[in-house]
Amino acid sequence: MTSKRNTLQKKIVFDTLSQMHNHPSAGMVYEKVRESYPGISKATVYRLLSEAADEGKILRLKLSDSSDRYDITLKKHYHIICKRCGAVADVEVDFDDELFAKQAIGCEGFAVEDCRLEFFGICRACAEEEKKIN
Ligand SMILES: [Zn+2]
Ligand SMILES: [Zn+2]
Repeated sequence: MTSKRNTLQKKIVFDTLSQMHNHPSAGMVYEKVRESYPGISKATVYRLLSEAADEGKILRLKLSDSSDRYDITLKKHYHIICKRCGAVADVEVDFDDELFAKQAIGCEGFAVEDCRLEFFGICRACAEEEKKIN
């Protein structure tokens, strides 16, 4: 019984994330899920997102200066983060971070495991806001 409920909740959380195209945090997904399913608990949404990420069904993004964000796009891509509002968007560039990581092998005796590329900027909405103020 519990597992049936779990499966349904999992689907709800996954479907909600699919409809959000802003790389939401767990909190943002929870707020959205709650609009349609007020009974669901925050802990459940957080847990289901975390489980789905562990299972490789969604991506958990560890971005600088930000809480974990979730991404439905599994294909390799990078992100740009708005320095003003923290909005996250996809960046498609021809860059191979695994190759970069390989080149760094042996540097200072480190075993290189990962390499991260992030872009920072001002999103369109914030740029519009700034124009209004000035
Ligand atoms: Zn912004
Ligand atoms: Zn993305």
